[in-house]
Amino acid sequence: MKVRCPGCGHIANKLPPSLRCPDCDNFSHDWLIYDWESFALMKRRHIRYNFLIIGLSLLNLLVAISSKSPAMFQWLFSLLFIPAIISLFCCRRQLESESEYEGHKGRALIHWFIGFRGF
Ligand SMILES: [Zn+2]
Repeated sequence: MKVRCPGCGHIANKLPPSLRCPDCDNFSHDWLIYDWESFALMKRRHIRYNFLIIGLSLLNLLVAISSKSPAMFQWLFSLLFIPAIISLFCCRRQLESESEYEGHKGRALIHWFIGFRGF
């Protein structure tokens, strides 16, 4: 797995054991993962999850409207389509800009829905 120095953009085949960049001598805990293929694969997976969440939340909204549900949770669940749509567009934009790709952080691969549940 390739990594990229966050300071100067030096790309190494593996993380230096000292975490010090051989190019700019910058010590960093924030080395970026430089692997477009796995990044793109994960973003495509996020897009599928987002479509699923959008579908489920809209279906849920229809059920809530037609049954005039008094359950607050059901209405709140419908609001999930908002972050899902935002995330969908973000993922799409990232997938289209391969030339601007400069590596990513590990947590960029965590879907917002998973992170959201953690709060
Ligand atoms: Zn560097």
